[in-house]
Formats: sequence, structure tokens, C-alpha cells
Amino acid sequence: MGRILRLSNGRGKEPLVVKLPERLTDTVVHQAQLVWHRNQYWLHVTVEKPAPLKVRGDVTAAIDPGEVHAVTITDGNDALVISGRLLRSLNRLKNKELRKFQRAISKTKKNSRKRKRLLAKKYRFLNWIERQKEHILHTISANAVRWCLQRNVKTVYIGDPESVRKKDCGKKHNQRIGQWAFGKLRDLLEYKLKRRGIKLTAVDERGTSGTCPRYAGNTPKQNARVYRCGNASCGFTGIHRDVLGASGILDKSVNDGFTKGRKLPATVNYLRPKVLTPKKAA
Ligand SMILES: [Zn+2]
Repeated sequence: MGRILRLSNGRGKEPLVVKLPERLTDTVVHQAQLVWHRNQYWLHVTVEKPAPLKVRGDVTAAIDPGEVHAVTITDGNDALVISGRLLRSLNRLKNKELRKFQRAISKTKKNSRKRKRLLAKKYRFLNWIERQKEHILHTISANAVRWCLQRNVKTVYIGDPESVRKKDCGKKHNQRIGQWAFGKLRDLLEYKLKRRGIKLTAVDERGTSGTCPRYAGNTPKQNARVYRCGNASCGFTGIHRDVLGASGILDKSVNDGFTKGRKLPATVNYLRPKVLTPKKAA
């Protein structure tokens, strides 16, 4: 049976009755608050959760965050690649729909009923898409944290794309990178890892995706999915670009530089977050 929350609606009025989601069944509710946000009411519930299990061990891992692959993580032995495609397609959808709304709204008169209707519709759409994005970010970060716990990871380094973002790559590219929700993902990861006793540290990711693991020399920017060393006399290839990137962040952070003949992860697993029961915005 689900848990019911009864909110008083003032004397002589019917109380507001809300069924709480399953995951809040065994928690202690401290506070419940109705908040008006983006044209609708939201119920904010403050709960006390049981203390989560802390990690035991002292393994170090590194994350290469990205757009196509939201999270690539390695401890030097294994790697996990979590797809960011769904997040990207939601961002595309958001931009497309918002442009349509803006066009339609600009054709209506101020304070007209038509404009109000359109604004309400726009807010419903924004609420829907932000919930979808949040859900995916939670799934991505939860999977990364689970992976860390299974491998007794105590310290995680994460590449900071700010160092890359500062270079001007044209307006379109900048917008794309900005939307990739790196800050939000990193905050979520930091919070979820901390609850498990795992520390997340941001590091400069320059050089980490281009450095050849064999000669520790830098090669040009990699665009293909599989890394290929640009040095003709080396020609090292055969590893996923982002796995090499994560491995480079780990190497740089732990060894304070790049190691020649760096050991690469032997196994790579892939995860593709999905949204179950995709619903159209009402
Ligand atoms: Zn090479």
C-alpha cells in the first residue's frame, strides 16, 4: 500500500490528499510544501533517508565526461561507457519546440487569451522535458556510482571541460557544449558519491584524450570513435576514444603526468539510458 500525505486546506475545507511515490514509503517526512513553479503546483517533501553504505577500499578511478558518451569511467582495469545520446536528443527537441513556441507567441497580442494559452502550453512542455532530462541525469550518475561501489573506488577524478570550453569553437559549438548539462551531472555525481564516502575531484583534462598510451606523446585531436595515434612510426589504435580519455585523466591525476606504455582497461561495458513509457507533453 502506498503512503498518503494529508495537507490541511484551512478550516472547513477538504484537505488535499496526495499519494506519495513508492520510494518514500519507508522514509521519515520532515516537511511538505506546495510550491508554485512554472505555472503549476509542485509538492516539495523533505525526508530523512537511512544512511547509505559507505565504500570500503582505496581504488582510484577517473571519469571523462562528454556529449556523445555522457560518462566514461575507468579504474585502469575495466571501463564503463554511458551513452549521452538521449540527453542530446532531448536538448535538440527542446530547442526546436521552444523556437516554435516563441514564433507563435510573438504573433499574439499582449494579455490576449491566445497568448496565455500558448504560455501555459510552453510551460507544460518545459516541465515535461526538464523532468525527462533530470531522470536521465539521475540514471547516468546512479550507474556510475554503482560501478564505483562494486570496485571499491574511494577517489574519482573527473575531467573539467571548462578548460576546453574556454577556447572559442564558434557559437553553435559553444551552445552545444553548454547544454550538455555537465555542471548538473557533476553536481549529482559529487552528491551521490559523497553519500557513499567517495570523493570527486575536478582536474584539467587538457592532453588526456590525445596522448598516445604507448609513447606518451600528443597526437592531433581525435574525431573518430576509435583512437588512432598520429605518429606514423607508432600508429597505435584499437581503443575507444573516450576510454582512452578516461584512462588519460587517471594517468595524469595519479602519476602527475603521462606514463609511457600505459596499461589500458581490458574490458569495456556500454550502457544506454532509456526513458521507460515516454509520454508526450500534455
Ligand atoms: Zn603512438
